[in-house]
Amino acid sequence: AKQAGKGTFAFFEPRIGEVVQQRVRLEEALRNAILRDELSIAIQSQYSPSGRLSGGEVLVRWLVGPDGVPVSPGAFIPVAESSGLIKPLTLLVLDKALAVIRQMMQRGIHIPLSVNFSTDLFRDEELINGVLELLAEAGVPAELLVLEITESLFIDTHSDVLDNMGRLMEAGLKFSLDDFGTGYSNLAYLKKMHLSELKIDKSFVDNLPGDDDNRAIVRSILSIARQLKLRVVAEGVETHSQADFLAAHGCDLLQGFLLHKPEPADSWLIELENCFSE
Ligand code: C2E
Ligand code: CA
Ligand code: CA
Ligand code: CA
Repeated sequence: AKQAGKGTFAFFEPRIGEVVQQRVRLEEALRNAILRDELSIAIQSQYSPSGRLSGGEVLVRWLVGPDGVPVSPGAFIPVAESSGLIKPLTLLVLDKALAVIRQMMQRGIHIPLSVNFSTDLFRDEELINGVLELLAEAGVPAELLVLEITESLFIDTHSDVLDNMGRLMEAGLKFSLDDFGTGYSNLAYLKKMHLSELKIDKSFVDNLPGDDDNRAIVRSILSIARQLKLRVVAEGVETHSQADFLAAHGCDLLQGFLLHKPEPADSWLIELENCFSE
């Protein structure tokens, strides 16, 4: 490098270096956590407006050290996605989710669980095979597994992405469009992609029912979904007035801290058993 160029960057170098180093450290720690099976899952229940437990979202958890300090998925999922670690992470989460579904089935409870599935994974045929193998090994009907995907999947629809998605669909898996409304909503895709479900993003739920814009957005999402025969889940429901508005306008399922906070799979299963034996 030229002397002058080097000088120009000197001011920024330490900070950029720090950020890069931090990221490398996070990636290393995550790699080890995956290898040592230190990731776990939490489940957040989803309810019908009448209060019936109808499903749950599986959320990855990473607790570090003897005190179990949580690292936010918002911080490590992007690192996993850009480093290739998302593949083993997803298989791990899926394996744990299927184990939970199997335990539910043994108790006679047939409720689907939703697992978050990063967009890039649909390019990976090996991973798709892995998903189908895990399902077969677990002896879980594919109908009990929902994959939550985001609209970014539809920006550049390579044919291999569509093929792989098609293979999972043929196997019986269902797809839910997560964070709906925040991305590249091309309504034509909604029909083409054979989705089963839309999830209204928390940002639209937040100011209900006071905010005029959000009220209009949520009502039109619900009306589109009804016409396309898609189930709608509202995420981030925190207040009774939000829940009441959503229920009054035909939202199928509610998910949020008002109803249930994500909890470790073990205690979720125990709670589930109690709720079904009452
Ligand atoms: P998401 O898919 O939108 O998941 C919902 C997030 O909102 C979760 O945060 C959940 O704990 C939180 N949440 C649920 N109800 C409420 C509420 O009423 N109020 C508020 N303020 N928050 C609520 P979490 O667990 O931190 O996950 C963050 C994001 O990380 C997820 O957003 C998802 O995009 C990603 N993620 C989590 N687990 C996985 C995974 O296993 N695989 C992949 N690829 N991504 C994951
Ligand atoms: Ca999700
Ligand atoms: Ca979401
Ligand atoms: Ca969201």
